[in-house]
Amino acid sequence: MSNAEMVRLLEQYADLNEINGENSFKVRAYRNAAEAVASLGESVAARVEAGEPLTDVKGVGKEIAEKLTVMATTGRFPQLEDLAKKVPPSLIELTRVKGVGPKLVQSLWRTLGIASVAELEGAILAGKLAGLPGVGAKKLEAVQRGIEAYHRNVGRTRLGEVDFIVEPFLDKLRAVPGVVRLEVAGSYRRRRETVGDVDLLAATNADTASAAITHAFAAYPEVAEVLGSGETRSSVRLKNGIQVDLRVVPEDAFGAALLYFTGSKAHNVALRQVALDHALHLSEYGLFEGGADPDRPATPGSAGRRVAGRTEEEVYARLGLDGVPPELREDRGELVAAAAHALPDLITLADVRGDLHMHSTWSDGRATVVQMLEACAAKGYEYAALTDHSKALAMTGGLDEAKLARQWEELDEVLAEARPRSSEAPAGRAGVTLLRGMEVDILKDGTLDLSDEWLERLDIVLVSVHSHFELSQAEQTARVVKAVSHPQVNVLAHPTGRVLGERDPYAIDLAAVFEACLANGVAVEHNASYQRLDLSDVNLMAAKARGVTVTLGSDAHSVDQLATMRYGVDQLRRAWLTSADVLNARPLAEVRRFLRKGRG
Ligand SMILES: [Zn+2]
Ligand SMILES: [Zn+2]
Repeated sequence: MSNAEMVRLLEQYADLNEINGENSFKVRAYRNAAEAVASLGESVAARVEAGEPLTDVKGVGKEIAEKLTVMATTGRFPQLEDLAKKVPPSLIELTRVKGVGPKLVQSLWRTLGIASVAELEGAILAGKLAGLPGVGAKKLEAVQRGIEAYHRNVGRTRLGEVDFIVEPFLDKLRAVPGVVRLEVAGSYRRRRETVGDVDLLAATNADTASAAITHAFAAYPEVAEVLGSGETRSSVRLKNGIQVDLRVVPEDAFGAALLYFTGSKAHNVALRQVALDHALHLSEYGLFEGGADPDRPATPGSAGRRVAGRTEEEVYARLGLDGVPPELREDRGELVAAAAHALPDLITLADVRGDLHMHSTWSDGRATVVQMLEACAAKGYEYAALTDHSKALAMTGGLDEAKLARQWEELDEVLAEARPRSSEAPAGRAGVTLLRGMEVDILKDGTLDLSDEWLERLDIVLVSVHSHFELSQAEQTARVVKAVSHPQVNVLAHPTGRVLGERDPYAIDLAAVFEACLANGVAVEHNASYQRLDLSDVNLMAAKARGVTVTLGSDAHSVDQLATMRYGVDQLRRAWLTSADVLNARPLAEVRRFLRKGRG
């Protein structure tokens, strides 16, 4: 059994236990184990086979280790099978509707037999929910809004979750002999924050290789169902519900096909118009000269002479355009810029010199300060800001002033130990400069959850909204504007509070917030957690247009989550940002100057 399958089963078990009213400690243990397996760099099954104890894996206790061993050796999870007889797994989908918690799902099912979103909608229409305990008019409204949001999000998966499945799949297919090129196209390649279907494109050097990749594609262990299988086109649904399409195309048309299937549709339409302006005809088979009937799709042999198509760059160049990075292909002015040789030099992951948002075991992180710093050093960062929560977030173990003082005592020790003993290049965590920071809650009235005395002492102050999402736009805007106007504040973290597929942004006038940030020397964060990706690409463009400085923060709560930075860089690229727009693409001295706001 693959790790991915184990993760899915552990999560399902946690969800069903939660619906079944089991204690939250048990539920959390299974969720933590799922996360641990998801981020494990090796196969659980291989570990079991080699006789290495699974209890060495952080987040996996003795009981769960036994269950994983059974899964690895028998391919089954008997406790889950038993539970699924009592609690139908279709109920899990119901918990994805915002406003419908596990408790309500259980009562809907017990009292009304509701086991799906469609049944819930039907019951609401028939007025059956009214009068159910705990379902007042307000709750009912919230559930209806939740169902609308559910339908907006259904069929799309967050980029980070797709990567987890797609990357090993690609490795497998690229290893098939005779495959010369294999790429993912579509919104995945454009790095959109959520992805629908996954489109794979392959070029092979022989017919036998085409057959081999088609076979390997359908035989992949994560495939739940083969939807169609042909010589040049196959389609499967994976066990996690994502549909993946594979097209095998000739090598000399690979670039044209990649361009076509990467999209966006709007970009393709605009690009075909550029081709027509050059008296050329662009299709998924190539760029053609002469004989093309613009109203009929061109096919090889029917559409004149192919003048480009092997690579995307070749097609763009033949049209007088610089190559457009996939992230920019949204018809937001990229073709005009490409024609004028004025495309931006987009930021890359290598430009990021430090992470300005992370948590440790001092609040709700899972790794110690030392572990986080060592991981940052391994990434080659110059600096890292430790930004644990403040006390208002009691459930995270947020820090009050006394606890912050204790944290600083530990930091003093850590830094003293880490000081390099010689003048040689510093090793390990000694190479990373620690910025002492905090993610301070913005309270309901816009004041901050930490004393001014401590705010002054911190190197970097992030502020964020974690409560009272329901305020009116005017109230929420005034609250946040007041917070960023505090002279010690440096960064507004996750500025809209959205959680992709789960929570819509709260109502806020971002233009007014950007104005206040600019006036007060405050940067806005792009929170790189793939669950948030907040600000969105469009809002980042607006921030840049207004001249507001942007920071990138992983908001990592574990060592592995530091890697989520790449998804943040993706979104910054989609927003046309260069390293000059981003605070933590600058050297430490410049970062410090920004954080001091011109003070000594
Ligand atoms: Zn936060
Ligand atoms: Zn945070």
